[in-house]
Amino acid sequence: MADFDVASTPYEEALSSILHRITPVAETERLAIRDAIHRVVAEDIYADQNVPTDRNSAMDGYACRYSDLAEKNAESRLRLVGTSAAGSPFTGEIDKGCCIRIFTGGVVPDGLDTVVMQEDCSISEDVVTTTNSHRLGQHIRQSGEDITAGEIALSKGRTIGTAELGLLASVGRAEVLVHRKPRVAFFSTGDELRAVGEKLNPGDVYDSNRYTLYGMLQSAGVEPVDLGVVRDDLEQTIAALRVGASKADVVVTSAGASVGDADFVKQALEKLGELTLWKVAMKPGRPLAFGKIDQTWFFGLPGNPVSVMVTFDKFVRPALNRLKGEKPSIPIRLNARIAKPIRKRPGRLEFQRGILSFDSSGEPVVESTGNQSSGVLTSMSRANCYIVLPLASGDLDAGTTVTVEPFEALL
Ligand code: AMP
Ligand code: MG
Repeated sequence: MADFDVASTPYEEALSSILHRITPVAETERLAIRDAIHRVVAEDIYADQNVPTDRNSAMDGYACRYSDLAEKNAESRLRLVGTSAAGSPFTGEIDKGCCIRIFTGGVVPDGLDTVVMQEDCSISEDVVTTTNSHRLGQHIRQSGEDITAGEIALSKGRTIGTAELGLLASVGRAEVLVHRKPRVAFFSTGDELRAVGEKLNPGDVYDSNRYTLYGMLQSAGVEPVDLGVVRDDLEQTIAALRVGASKADVVVTSAGASVGDADFVKQALEKLGELTLWKVAMKPGRPLAFGKIDQTWFFGLPGNPVSVMVTFDKFVRPALNRLKGEKPSIPIRLNARIAKPIRKRPGRLEFQRGILSFDSSGEPVVESTGNQSSGVLTSMSRANCYIVLPLASGDLDAGTTVTVEPFEALL
């Protein structure tokens, strides 16, 4: 049942063996589109009409036939015979040599092919005069130029963000089928932990992991189920894991997952289900426990506050995205110059905390937040990015180019 890797496992290997096992939550629900924000679409959404439905004007001006306009810079005179405004199309006949007043969004009648901006026209009585040179088809939005009827407007596995809410509305969808929100139970372990508001005795620390985890679960778009603090005790740990497994799709714990005497998470998991304990070749972040209790996935994160955040971000979040039904995505990365030297021992993939900025010529520059100890939570708070240092990398001189990953999902 237990599987203890003595040698270090590369990050990518540990992550992919997790992702290979997890499948999206099967249950779906149909929600009003606003209620579906941040959910993952569980059906392909087809457009049954063109968007926009009709050819329409992108400008206020006059709609005409290009063939009625004079040669370049010569004067054209067109007779004004009507108006097309957004929501009030023109329905009459338009003879050769005639035009209509048109406003942005107004339907361009069949037969007309060009819109002349009002700024390029002068008007007296019912005659519109224009001298500028024009281009056939200018200022017209084609029917279906956004989405064509029969095309997929939003595919299965896409997360509904702000643009997607608008997109669903633009194809006339009032409701959408989405995956159920995964529930994630979490608790902290440790005899030294005190709740905020309590008095600290010597050796105590406030339980901050339950707060960072809560925040990260919220921004991951799952439903957090807070199970509180569990003392360093095997029976209590087993009981809490049982509650978590009965209530949630995933249980996440922090601390107590190494192999010290007071680390009961490993023992509890071995009694309840299956467990893989990895010594991941990453910093911060080893060890990492992954397993299953009945149908519930289990992540045992390290105890140190920075390790909790980084291992959540690098393992749990991708797993939750998969559980939510999302298609895999890659983090946004960019290259930046380091302003100061960086110390790094080869052998581990490091996610140092950095502050990314742009120098006076617009080039990205990154600086470490300073103390990179995995207990220093201010290093996460002051940072706006990871400085990603590959496994093999050693110390780096100032001026070296490194890979930087902005914190997009940790906020
Ligand atoms: P452990 O994995 O139990 O050995 O814990 C490693 C370190 O993380 C210790 O210094 C703990 O006090 C600290 N720690 C564990 N849990 C928490 C927590 N919930 N909040 C803040 N610090 C914690
Ligand atoms: Mg502990």
